[in-house]
Amino acid sequence: MDRRISEIFGSMVFNDDVMRERLPKEVYKSLTKTIATGRTIDPSIADVVANAMKDWAVEKGATHYTHWFQPLTGVTAEKHDAFISPVGSCKVVMEFSGKELIRGESDASSFPSGGLRATFEARGYTAWDPASYAFVKDGTLYIPTAFCSYTGEALDSKTPLLRSMDVLSNQALRILRLFGDTQSKHVDITVGAEQEYFIIDKKMYDRRKDLVYTGRTLFGAPAPKGQELEDHYFGPLKTRIAAFMSDLDEALWIMGINAKTKHNEAAPAQHELAPIYATTNIAVDQNLLTMEYMKKIAEKHGLVCLLHEKPYAGVNGSGKHNNWSLNANGKNLLDPGKTPEENVQFLLILAAIIKAVDDYQDLMRVSVAHAGNDHRLGANEAPPAIVSVFVGEELNALIDSIVDGTAYKGAKKAMMDLGIPTVPVFRKDTTDRNRTSPFAFTGNKFEFRMLGSSQNIALPNTVLNTAVAESFRQFADVLEGADNLDAAVAKLIRETFTAHKRIIFDGNGYSEEWEKEAKKRGLSNLRTSVDAYKTFMDSKNVSLFSSMGVMSETEMRSREEIYFENYSKIINIEALTMIVMASRDYIPAAEKYIALIADAAAKKRAICEDLSCAVEKDIVRRLSDCVASAYSGVEKLKVEESYAASLTDAKARAEYYVSKVIPLMEELRASVDAMEVLTASEFWPVPTYGDMMFRV
Ligand code: ADP
Ligand code: MG
Repeated sequence: MDRRISEIFGSMVFNDDVMRERLPKEVYKSLTKTIATGRTIDPSIADVVANAMKDWAVEKGATHYTHWFQPLTGVTAEKHDAFISPVGSCKVVMEFSGKELIRGESDASSFPSGGLRATFEARGYTAWDPASYAFVKDGTLYIPTAFCSYTGEALDSKTPLLRSMDVLSNQALRILRLFGDTQSKHVDITVGAEQEYFIIDKKMYDRRKDLVYTGRTLFGAPAPKGQELEDHYFGPLKTRIAAFMSDLDEALWIMGINAKTKHNEAAPAQHELAPIYATTNIAVDQNLLTMEYMKKIAEKHGLVCLLHEKPYAGVNGSGKHNNWSLNANGKNLLDPGKTPEENVQFLLILAAIIKAVDDYQDLMRVSVAHAGNDHRLGANEAPPAIVSVFVGEELNALIDSIVDGTAYKGAKKAMMDLGIPTVPVFRKDTTDRNRTSPFAFTGNKFEFRMLGSSQNIALPNTVLNTAVAESFRQFADVLEGADNLDAAVAKLIRETFTAHKRIIFDGNGYSEEWEKEAKKRGLSNLRTSVDAYKTFMDSKNVSLFSSMGVMSETEMRSREEIYFENYSKIINIEALTMIVMASRDYIPAAEKYIALIADAAAKKRAICEDLSCAVEKDIVRRLSDCVASAYSGVEKLKVEESYAASLTDAKARAEYYVSKVIPLMEELRASVDAMEVLTASEFWPVPTYGDMMFRV
């Protein structure tokens, strides 16, 4: 297998090896320089690159090409054009020009624009991102692109991300120069996204309207067994799952995606896949492709991959851990080394990141806010809605000593001795794990853990990059003018840690005490997505993005509108689905069962008048009560849902869904779930929680 993997790996990707082999030397040099340094591409090489790409793609079986982009729908978009170009009246040749590679035109009017695009100007453009490799998939050459309006405003997730990578690199370089790095021309921002997901049998999935329409179950009484035995996490893979995972790995490797780790997760039927990290924009594109392949390959195995944050109530939901670091000239800037207390550059960078997270807690929260993720954050299975930073015992002690001006005693490098002669004694990591922290330092990278499993990771990284760039900018402004650099750096580190210590928290993020303590510290606690969205346009946030050139106020305003709208649409679809399922599936099923029981009682009495029908009576009465409350629940939900949908202001509408519609949805669910446990299995119209989670 070993050789086979190295042969297939990246075989459908127009990667560095292919470019070196197929492009003229000068063109290759110019293109790789653009990729490595983030500099603008020389347009004169575009025709040559396009032609080489086309020849390669045709050899791989491609007949079409597409600009592949990330509109604000959360999923990717593509429109396929054939390479053919007519010659004379009955012949064609395969052609692909530099112009077609660099720029595409797309009708922007059907994608969310948040009011950005006036109706008379529907034109939109896609623009090649040369730093993310093109690839061939299903007979089409895919070209990763950015997507903008006719007037140049970003209509996608990639454009602000690329801008944020550029500003962070530039500001980080200013810091590195102060420490004598004259070599680095670019700072690379690396990301590894660990992806969680659920798997369900396709036949069961098809019978659940809620899964089909909304991606999560809107009803369902708990199964007798959940995750309490902790027997699924890292447990042996079921044969069917193992076969799916193996096919998935292979498909991803072919696409040059370094799928590395796979295992069972905490909840039944929940799993995780982690790739090896890559440069941020590539990591984003690859995560989108990974999600797409998860769904596709699952179908081939008669399965469905659920990427929703909370497919099932009562067991853990799915998130995505965004591992993030900075790299210059092959050196990880977040590596503290053996003696972090002497690593001033590391401490300054650490201070900058802590400051960034503290200054822009609200934006970090916004970046992971969407309807699905509201079911996880703060639900004792994922980080709380309060943003804080975990640095571990060692760095915590070091930061304390810096703030207090006391001597740092150094960390005890504890050894692990299991007392078994044949097992070697080894050194323990100095940072233990803290699973409850939203933003944790894990040795040489930060892990942002609030992301939802279904989301595009571009926005969280855009926010993080921009906020850290702003810290670096402020630091560089101070330090570049300093007479005594060493003293100025020491002062700045101390001041920064002192000012932003409140965001550091190493304790249990799930506890009630933390909520109280966080409040005392003045940290924001934005419980719902809608609470979070309301902070997005705060003047400090607008000034961050606009001063850094990452997003203009107009671009932000359009996003704000889309956030609110998208939230409302999701809840609206969920409410409508509940109405349909309750009135057309569940209530009729319970009524049928009631009739059967009533019939049984009548028949019993007919045979023998003094037979007790107490059980039948009880079942009929209790089930009838549930039916009545489900029925009235449906009626109430109908009224509020249609009122909510009629509100014209996006923010007011979203707020109404949170305050009025969601509580009614929860009420309706409770009535139906109570019905489920009273109704005979054979009458229940859909697969149960137990069926779905334990019979894959
Ligand atoms: P952990 O056990 O702490 O989760 P792993 O080594 O398993 O750490 O890594 C988890 C994820 O973090 C992987 O996707 C990995 O590629 C990624 N990762 C590791 N180092 C870096 C880094 N320097 N920058 C970004 N991501 C990284
Ligand atoms: Mg992890």
